[in-house]
Amino acid sequence: MKLAARFGQVPASLTLAIAAKAKAMKAEGLDVCSFSAGEPDFDTPAHIRAAAKAALDAGKTRYGPAAGEPKLREAIANKLRQENSLAYERCNVIVTNGGKHSLFNMMLALIETGDEVIIPAPYWLSYPEMVKLADGKPVIVPTDASSCYKITPEQLRASITPKTKLFILNSPCNPTGIVYTPAEIKALAEVVVEQDILVVSDEIYEKIIYDRVQHLSIGALGTEIFERTIISGGFAKAFSMTGWRLGYLAGPVELIDAVTTIQSHSTSNVCTFAQYGAIAALEGSLDCVENMRQAFAQRRKIMFERINAIDGISCPKPDGAFYLFVNISKTGLKSLEFCKTLLESQQVAVVPGIAFGTDECIRLSYATDMNSIEKGMDRLEKFVHSLNSM
Ligand code: PMP
Ligand code: GLU
Repeated sequence: MKLAARFGQVPASLTLAIAAKAKAMKAEGLDVCSFSAGEPDFDTPAHIRAAAKAALDAGKTRYGPAAGEPKLREAIANKLRQENSLAYERCNVIVTNGGKHSLFNMMLALIETGDEVIIPAPYWLSYPEMVKLADGKPVIVPTDASSCYKITPEQLRASITPKTKLFILNSPCNPTGIVYTPAEIKALAEVVVEQDILVVSDEIYEKIIYDRVQHLSIGALGTEIFERTIISGGFAKAFSMTGWRLGYLAGPVELIDAVTTIQSHSTSNVCTFAQYGAIAALEGSLDCVENMRQAFAQRRKIMFERINAIDGISCPKPDGAFYLFVNISKTGLKSLEFCKTLLESQQVAVVPGIAFGTDECIRLSYATDMNSIEKGMDRLEKFVHSLNSM
């Protein structure tokens, strides 16, 4: 069968593939420590589960509007106004099957053949693939530890051409955990406005930040940038709702209407009763989010210390999300080989940096229990020492 040419350039998601392999090895009885997928290990908070169960029992089992339950769209718009100072109304918001789906639909609605999309590397691995699936051209802008893995306004300006449509900003960032400061966001916003391009701000990790760091939504910096901003968010990370598949996109009405049309012909509405869980998440107490954040903070501390105590590998301290981006270049191994050998010899699953555009690093997720962290770090230490003595 001859598949579409656009598909030939797109590999499957490596984060999902490695996570699936680690789960399969566990099912075979192997004692695997998985630091692969960014998936919180907590149960979804009880009040959210209860709201979805009640909705199920109340018959919320029918088709609903393609853009989402009006009450949920309203709750998301309220959250964006109150928490993020973004002047959205219900008509500016669409409920999607996860943050991944909102970004994908947005690309489909916006990108024309050959349009360029600026993506700072290291990047979340699905961004370039989504751009390619929409027939656009990813323009990768490399960053490294010397600039704390942040794109500078000068780099952004220099990457813009007449074909540039969109810039993807992800703060807190997957895979590096960096968070742009308000001053840095402001400087990037100035370039977006000056060059009259669009920015999509992927804020899925906004609530997972540490040490008095502040999250600022780029669209909150004035009317000119607000008009050029699209927000993508979701429930998976902050509320531990990965399998629920619930996210949202917010932006100008014409974009939201276009994405609604796409959904009306593709997925229709997101699971109706699940949306009632999301309403409870937004309207209920956020103590559960804070408790999980504190647990992540503790794991981050332990894992950061353990990794930097291992001779030959190192990582910067992340300000947000739940990943450590570890430089392995001194070991002499490329990231794929490092990860493959580590998994086979020590049963420790991590993700090669090459998936995120940087071959000299690996990514470890600490959205896992402390016991696995301690055990996994012992094994990682043993592995790196064995490489050093070769
Ligand atoms: N953006 C980033 C940066 C992510 O890491 C993820 C994780 N899957 C998503 C978006 C999408 O999350 P989901 O589709 O589970 O809501
Ligand atoms: N976003 C998470 C990660 O990067 C989940 C896997 C995925 O959706 O790619 O690990």
